[in-house]
Amino acid sequence: MSSRETNTNVILIGAGIMSATLGSLLKELAPDWNVTVFEKLGKTGEESSNEWNNAGTGHAALCELNYTKEKSDGSIDLSKAININEQFQESRQFWSYLVNHGKLSNPQEFIRPLPHMSLVWGEDNVNFLKKRFDAMSQNPLFQGMEYSEDPEKLKEWIPLIMKDRDSHGPVAATKMDTGTDVNFGSLSRKMFEHLESNDVEVKYHHSVKDLKRTRDGNWEVKVFDAKNDKLEVRKADFVFVGGGGGSLHLLQKSGIPEGRGIGGFPVSGQFMVCNNPDVIKKHEAKVYGKAPVGAPPMSVPHLDTRYIGEEKSLLFGPFAGFSPKFLKTGSMLDLITSVKPNNVLTMLAAGAKEMPLTKYLIQQVLMSKEQRMEALREFIPNAKSEDWDLVVAGQRVQVIKDTEEGGKGTLQFGTEVVSGANGSIAALLGASPGASTAVHVMMDVLEKCFPQHMPEWEPKLKEMVPSYGQALVENPELIEEIHQTTSRALGLVEEKELVLS
Ligand SMILES: Cc1cc2nc3c(=O)[nH]c(=O)nc-3n(C[C@H](O)[C@H](O)[C@H](O)COP(=O)(O)OP(=O)(O)OC[C@H]3O[C@@H](n4cnc5c(N)ncnc54)[C@H](O)[C@@H]3O)c2cc1C
Repeated sequence: MSSRETNTNVILIGAGIMSATLGSLLKELAPDWNVTVFEKLGKTGEESSNEWNNAGTGHAALCELNYTKEKSDGSIDLSKAININEQFQESRQFWSYLVNHGKLSNPQEFIRPLPHMSLVWGEDNVNFLKKRFDAMSQNPLFQGMEYSEDPEKLKEWIPLIMKDRDSHGPVAATKMDTGTDVNFGSLSRKMFEHLESNDVEVKYHHSVKDLKRTRDGNWEVKVFDAKNDKLEVRKADFVFVGGGGGSLHLLQKSGIPEGRGIGGFPVSGQFMVCNNPDVIKKHEAKVYGKAPVGAPPMSVPHLDTRYIGEEKSLLFGPFAGFSPKFLKTGSMLDLITSVKPNNVLTMLAAGAKEMPLTKYLIQQVLMSKEQRMEALREFIPNAKSEDWDLVVAGQRVQVIKDTEEGGKGTLQFGTEVVSGANGSIAALLGASPGASTAVHVMMDVLEKCFPQHMPEWEPKLKEMVPSYGQALVENPELIEEIHQTTSRALGLVEEKELVLS
């Protein structure tokens, strides 16, 4: 690793939001390092980071009920919500730094203010939401949260959902006006445009086939150039495997012991998209409900206003699906070829343990359009089938590994960084909360892989992300300051006009 001080060669595999973020951080911290990106497709952000392949929620734990569990004593556990909120604040700060320094332009093309709401019905769920609201509204990170069970107030907030709703049983919602809709596709493209204009070589149509550690502790990366039909070999001091669903195979090829015993389980997503402009304009929020019993956390149903390009859209979902591919553009052999002698027992244990998930996925795959419309009608009671089309979203690969708490073959629902070989390689696996927390996750990569540089980088990291190294929840003044400065930089301050009719 001696050559890292000067002329450090960095290879980033994949041109999604994760590589975009790591590349952008490195360009600020170590501008002289040589950074090369290999992307197998012809463009940036075409897999999970693409705007049509994810839900575009700036996950700050303002509306996702699965981030706040009820403990056995009836109190609400806010720890996960606090973590995710603080991580999203780090993303906002880094994006603001890039905007303020002219490295990202027109922030409204990638982030917009949009209320985040949680909506529940039935007595038990309403009691849970009220308790959750009481706990969250006392926390400085969730200031401004509103709660209502009043049908008239709810009609004001969510007219489309409340119209023609059966009035039997209680309905309640919380609302946070500081929520955001994020176009991660646009953000990835903007970050890569900036990187390419700053000496970062992005090689499209280049698929990484293999990577081996050399005797001198560096890496030899074999890349297939599809346009010229030839194999190239590139050397690197540090490799980041940001291949999304493609990362697991590459981690296995790297041969690092930290990658052994890890498996992956693909879950695909589908959304219903509204094609009726009159319906689209009547809704202006991200409204998250409660996951059905037995459903995995990524299947929480939500009705989302989205801003994609100049257009306002309305999406409902996600519905889960099953495909053995690890990427939308992957191969039908991805799942089977990821099973290795070192993870087969873990995979089999997960198979036996996760029968309810398998059952749930089969039910989801077999759903007819009318059954999907019925799920949507829980949100929009008078939704018409002809107003909605089905679109296929991105592919997630959930990590399966042995853990102390869960035992052999435990399915993980978070984002995981696996690093090894003296910090010369890191791979990103898993999905949720994913893109929203990319800055925190990539700073974690820096800490794991470049500990020797951290003292020198710390002042710059604090300039880019003022809350770096601090627990925001313990510092209400800093929360307020960050909220103000990032809202201004990202153009989130102006009240949006509600287009309701
Ligand atoms: C249905 C769904 C909804 C989601 N909703 C949200 C949300 O609302 N909010 C949120 O924050 N996150 C959400 N996520 C998660 C988020 O989309 C991901 O965490 C994030 O986009 C992952 O970024 P990435 O850069 O790791 O991967 P990707 O964007 O998938 O990029 C990986 C890139 O690597 C390339 N690649 C793969 N293998 C190779 C190879 N061998 N050689 C060269 N290139 C390769 C691929 O072509 C691709 O371009 C959602 C995900 C899904 C699937």
